[in-house]
Amino acid sequence: MEKKRAIFLDKDGTLVDSSMYPNPPGSKLLHNDIINGLRYAQEKGFELFIVSNQSWISKGKLTQEEVIETFESVIAQLKTHDIKITDYLFCPHKNDDYCHCKKPRPGMILELAKKHDIDLANSFIVGDFDEDIEAGKNAGVKTILTLTNTQTHYTNKPDFIIKNLNEIWRVL
Ligand SMILES: [Mg+2]
Ligand SMILES: [Zn+2]
Repeated sequence: MEKKRAIFLDKDGTLVDSSMYPNPPGSKLLHNDIINGLRYAQEKGFELFIVSNQSWISKGKLTQEEVIETFESVIAQLKTHDIKITDYLFCPHKNDDYCHCKKPRPGMILELAKKHDIDLANSFIVGDFDEDIEAGKNAGVKTILTLTNTQTHYTNKPDFIIKNLNEIWRVL
């Protein structure tokens, strides 16, 4: 059977308004910026995943339960728009935990790809931060930067730059 293509989505600042860090349960989707784009990607046959750094957990700002609740809320909101998130992972660690999963490390992408039989070379990461782009490069997927935050200095050149997820039709 042919391997599946996937889009690995960053959560905070890409799917969800990140102006209220740390994003608590009930965080607002960037509705007008994402729904059409995600639908388009899904119709093109891409499986959708979320990969998110949540060092708030190891820093004591959010509990694991609160983070899971936020993910479930995001997934439920997307589902009301017929958008299906196949699976997600988050990294609870901070830098000096030296885990394999915290972006820019590729651990979360590689784990999901293995579990769901994903063709990495024909898949994408979408994120609003340098670390997302670097994680994508480290995992061997194509990289898309969204201009949905205020970070202006990038050390990793993304393959594509889009204003927000709704512009993903330009890339896929
Ligand atoms: Mg982000
Ligand atoms: Zn980690």
